[in-house]
Amino acid sequence: MPAKFSGGTAGLVLAARLTELSDVTVGVIEAGVLRLGDAVVDTPALMGQSLFNPDYDWNFTTIPQVHVSQRNIPINRGKMIGGSAGLNFMIWQRGSKQDYDAWRQLGIGNGWDWDGLLPYFLKTEAVHPGPGSAGVSGKFHGQSGPLPIHYDNFDTPLEGPYAQALESLGVYLNSDPEAGDSTGLFNSAASVDPATGNRSYSAVNYFLANQDRDNLVVLQGAQVTKINLTPGNPIVATGAEFVVDNITYSVNATKEIILSAGSIQTPQLLELSGIGNPNILKEFGIPVVYANPDVGENLQDHTHVTSQFELNDPTIPTINLLNVNTTFEAEEQALYHINHTGIYTYTISDVSFHALQTFWSPAELAQSLTTLRNEIQAANLSKWQRKQVQIQLTDLENASVGQMELLFFGSDITVTNSSKFVDILNFGSIQCTGRNISAEVPFILVHRVSDA
Ligand SMILES: Cc1cc2nc3c(=O)[nH]c(=O)nc-3n(C[C@H](O)[C@H](O)[C@H](O)COP(=O)(O)OP(=O)(O)OC[C@H]3O[C@@H](n4cnc5c(N)ncnc54)[C@H](O)[C@@H]3O)c2cc1C
Repeated sequence: MPAKFSGGTAGLVLAARLTELSDVTVGVIEAGVLRLGDAVVDTPALMGQSLFNPDYDWNFTTIPQVHVSQRNIPINRGKMIGGSAGLNFMIWQRGSKQDYDAWRQLGIGNGWDWDGLLPYFLKTEAVHPGPGSAGVSGKFHGQSGPLPIHYDNFDTPLEGPYAQALESLGVYLNSDPEAGDSTGLFNSAASVDPATGNRSYSAVNYFLANQDRDNLVVLQGAQVTKINLTPGNPIVATGAEFVVDNITYSVNATKEIILSAGSIQTPQLLELSGIGNPNILKEFGIPVVYANPDVGENLQDHTHVTSQFELNDPTIPTINLLNVNTTFEAEEQALYHINHTGIYTYTISDVSFHALQTFWSPAELAQSLTTLRNEIQAANLSKWQRKQVQIQLTDLENASVGQMELLFFGSDITVTNSSKFVDILNFGSIQCTGRNISAEVPFILVHRVSDA
């Protein structure tokens, strides 16, 4: 049987797809647990409330980062059946065509480009039209996949003026961001099921939907500590060790092992199993089974800055009003539970991606590109990484993909018991090219997230 670690976003999709074949049995090992009926997971408007809570979030932090005054930056990651999609912001958004075609440019073949992936994007989703989905063409929207997708049925009175403000700054309205160009401002779809008003994610729509299959077994609350590898040519992964309540167990796979523990812990598990940079493995006393200095390198993520605005009118219905106005809260609870609508189903809908050219003058851009080129030249990059940053540099110059993301959130994410604040989240990409990784984790993490 194939064994799978772990039961996150991608892991459960693979487990569900593989067990469509009755002669394949899949065992999934997941450190977190099933969070069915848990409001902070299910209820869209409560997004963010599970962050930093160790029951839901691995809650990693980086080592001190030189470029942000030596601060440790949090890295949230979902720890539950369904993984990070159980605590994410539910924005259902495809990248631009160029984002995927860049993989082909890097030489990754077998359909890992826009044309190759589009059929699978469509196969995943069941898009339900909503108030904001006018202009959305069927060609780029799947109708019958397992994951229900919906457009917000509740907006605060602030989304409209916010969109107008962006338009007045020259940001264009994109009526179908799923068609291969995700730049501009649009009304984003969300991974929310209109039939329940709840978050849709792989725990519900890929695991629960198939839990009666005899050939699918999911073990929860079990943390994999090592993949057992038999050295040789080829090296064979035969099973794994995992810990439940401080007791270590072993499991064998008769066919293969799929490692899907997310972008931080997948390389961590490879290293704990002896696949990685020999210098780092030796530092931690891990026998080297396969030397590969690229394991855990080249992490790219986006980080964000939140701008918070105080409203002149505190009666405007934002999520915070639920905390201070009991009548409003009771009405909205009823709407949510009876009709599956209202503010409790609220997700971020005003989303925009911008090329730097939108806000930077040609002189500012030219100066930054020169600095960047010099840094790339001086950096100790592998041939592959050099090719990658060259593609990214060209994307910057051509304004072909979004480099910056702005999200409007009709609530504040830091102040509680106030009705007066809304946030604008500004995301930018960071690339960790250096070594030095090691976030604080429950057991050895060989890497440190480096200075970006
Ligand atoms: C705060 C936040 C907001 C986000 N917002 C959005 C958004 O709005 N839209 C969007 O598209 N994306 C968003 N993302 C990103 C998206 O959720 C992730 O890219 C996606 O869920 C990653 O899927 P994955 O399968 O690679 O990993 P995950 O879904 O994280 O799954 C990994 C699983 O492995 C388990 N695991 C790890 N190590 C072990 C171990 N040793 N033993 C057993 N189990 C283990 C974890 O518990 C987890 O369940 C957000 C992410 C975060 C953190």
